[in-house]
Amino acid sequence: MMQCIFKALSVVVPFILKTKGKQHLSILIYHRVLPKYDFMRPSEPTVEEFDWQMSIISRYFNPLSLADALELMNRGELPENAICVTFDDGYADNESCALPILKKWHIPATVFISTGFINGGRMWNDTVVETLKGIDKHLDLQKLGLGEYTLHDQESKKIAAQEILTEIKHREIESRAEAVEFIESLAEHTLPRDLMLTDQQIKNLSDAGVEIGGHTVSHPILAKLDNAQAKQEIFDGKKCLENIINKKIKYFAYPNGKLGHDYLENQIRIVKEAGFEAAVSTTWGVSTRNSDCYQLARFTPWDKRADKFFLRLLLNQKKVKF
Ligand SMILES: [Zn+2]
Repeated sequence: MMQCIFKALSVVVPFILKTKGKQHLSILIYHRVLPKYDFMRPSEPTVEEFDWQMSIISRYFNPLSLADALELMNRGELPENAICVTFDDGYADNESCALPILKKWHIPATVFISTGFINGGRMWNDTVVETLKGIDKHLDLQKLGLGEYTLHDQESKKIAAQEILTEIKHREIESRAEAVEFIESLAEHTLPRDLMLTDQQIKNLSDAGVEIGGHTVSHPILAKLDNAQAKQEIFDGKKCLENIINKKIKYFAYPNGKLGHDYLENQIRIVKEAGFEAAVSTTWGVSTRNSDCYQLARFTPWDKRADKFFLRLLLNQKKVKF
């Protein structure tokens, strides 16, 4: 029943939106695929959710590798409903949880990795989330320029973590590190050391046909760095990944990904200089032959219901970025 509705919608909706026959490339952003639901990360898909999402993409869309999609787009031969699946940051579950599902549905993917956290590291945002997840008490973070939080249930912990992350995300690196260090010092349990990919897992992904892409070393807000620092982050991350998989790293994802806010116009030049062939942002929409291939649009599908997820993918095709 559902399949018939989807089939009908995939014909009718592009006709109404006038996207029928248009060569639009949708690029999806994922971060994690969780083995089971995590109340601190309600928007991250579980294995079960990712499985039905990929089944929809496999049945009603044209999943392509980034390399094939870009080549076809340049030649003006992109099929209808072309879609690429990408992951940012380099979480271990991309290999342990997502890869088996990608294989099952024959969906190519690209994983953009920040190399500073692989092999046992942890991103600052996960340090905050994991610390708050495990403590039940009143937190006074006013000396860090943050608020007071009473952590007594799942909801209060989740909201406190979201508020703190939003507040410190764009701080100067030292100020953010100081805040994270203080919050981590309050942890009442050992924080996980297996959240990010290992060298072996990166090789496994690459051997399975997943494209590995650059995402800097330490995931900085590039816009806050001078040219030399930005260059080091972009070049070193690429080199590190090339040493691990022994292949050229062709694609780059800007951390956080918004032009002007997270990266600057002149930093696109550094990405080109480093030898990347294309780069992706987090500006929502789809790309066409006329788009800047160093700032390809992407978007995160967040729906937890199959019909909404499916419709959102079709509707997103209307948001063309040039
Ligand atoms: Zn990222």
